[in-house]
Amino acid sequence: MESKRNFIFGFIPPTDRSEPAWWFAFQGNKLLVSQESSSVSIPCLVDLVELGLTPLSQHYLGRLDNRSCYAVELSEGAALPAGMFFEGLRQVYGRLDEDLFWVAARAVQIVDWDRTHQFCGRCGTPLRAKTTERSKECIKCGLLHFPRLAPAIIVLIERDHKLLLARSRHFLPGMYSVLAGFVEPGEPLEGAVVREVKEEVGLTVKDIKYFGSQPWPFPHSLMIGFTATYAGGEISLDDSEIEDAGWFSIDSLPPLPGKISIARKLIDWFLEKEENSQDPNDK
Ligand SMILES: [Zn+2]
Repeated sequence: MESKRNFIFGFIPPTDRSEPAWWFAFQGNKLLVSQESSSVSIPCLVDLVELGLTPLSQHYLGRLDNRSCYAVELSEGAALPAGMFFEGLRQVYGRLDEDLFWVAARAVQIVDWDRTHQFCGRCGTPLRAKTTERSKECIKCGLLHFPRLAPAIIVLIERDHKLLLARSRHFLPGMYSVLAGFVEPGEPLEGAVVREVKEEVGLTVKDIKYFGSQPWPFPHSLMIGFTATYAGGEISLDDSEIEDAGWFSIDSLPPLPGKISIARKLIDWFLEKEENSQDPNDK
């Protein structure tokens, strides 16, 4: 979940702009990429003008391996440079360098926030970007607007060498995953775990432990992962978004989410733990 390379958050762009930078250019929520054999890459240039592109907006993100990173929005009608095309972020995962992918996940959220926060939510007056931090200020009433983040918990529940997997109605056919849900205002993360598990499958859990976190830029979530142990109750799907749920052992797993997700990292963690704990004499 953590970048192998060094990304340093930044807000104020460097004054010296003579070095090539990474350009994360979006049309809507799609990223400008070029194909390089089986993978894709993004422009590394001093300025996007070299591609004949004029961004609607430009945001400095920071530095990856000492190279500046910019997020820009392109207009709907922007002409594509030769050999380049737009692709959704999910589609480029695994084809774009992983560290660049996670900077792109930052970039798409900043571009989306900028696009959807042009006017004050209180009085409707145009907003002005602040020069000292990533926020916008209403020029009339002074209300501050920050980039949006929607925290969501995700939890792997285990019971006697099995894990709980469930199917949401909007999943791909046959796929199962661990439970997840948005945190309510005023709710501690552990409280959200207890509530979501109760609401979705009717169970109680104990031993809730932090696992790790992952940005989920579809469009602006932050997934906070936990592990927990079954404490009581029977699986019940009343009033639930879940269409099926059950206990699975590691040798009878259904189709699982892709490697991009923290859901899969939780499941892989459990599989590895179980494989290591199996008595070799049982095999
Ligand atoms: Zn206002």
